[in-house]
Amino acid sequence: MYLKSLQIHGFKSFANKLVFEFNDGITGIVGPNGSGKSNVGDAVRWVLGEQSAKQLRGAKMEDVIFSGTETRKPLGFAFVAITLDNSDHKLPIEYDEVTVARRVYRSGESEYLINGNTCRLKDVQELFLDTGIGKEGYSIIGQGQIDKILSGKPEDRRELFDEAAGIVKFKKRKLTAEKNLEE
Ligand code: ATP
Ligand code: MG
Repeated sequence: MYLKSLQIHGFKSFANKLVFEFNDGITGIVGPNGSGKSNVGDAVRWVLGEQSAKQLRGAKMEDVIFSGTETRKPLGFAFVAITLDNSDHKLPIEYDEVTVARRVYRSGESEYLINGNTCRLKDVQELFLDTGIGKEGYSIIGQGQIDKILSGKPEDRRELFDEAAGIVKFKKRKLTAEKNLEE
């Protein structure tokens, strides 16, 4: 499984529709300060379901929508889609290629899509459970995160190993089963 492409339209500084094509191996994104490098990482986090504006370096969720420049009017929506190669079927879905997309309007209305079909945030989260890819996964390592891992509480560090070992889904199922028993 690998990242094939990232489509961005109206997200943060990217007013125009933009497609990043990635190949096997390493891709570096370089550019002057403020040119939008970190915004690319934010777009990946966001499409994977990030709910915290702060994690996306904004104050409110609407801040992810292109807010205009001196020469350009603000846009009314933000759209990001990520396409992963799934020919090894590491993602529990029958398709060889998986595209997850998210769109939000200034009204607050929003939607998630998996291969073009509207779905819930929960479906996106479940798709990436135990793959290390989710917004909590270790595939995106933000600034300061290494420190947090090294100096964090053992329980927090344990979560990382649970994800890598692929047992998060069993823990979640156990919790749900226990909750149902109580009810
Ligand atoms: P550095 O090298 O300093 O880390 P960078 O390339 O990572 O810079 P980013 O932080 O990705 O830069 O981009 C910051 C730019 O994105 C700023 O110019 C900011 O105005 C712009 N920006 C952020 N949110 C929006 C938005 N909603 N609408 C328009 N522009 C935005
Ligand atoms: Mg940056």
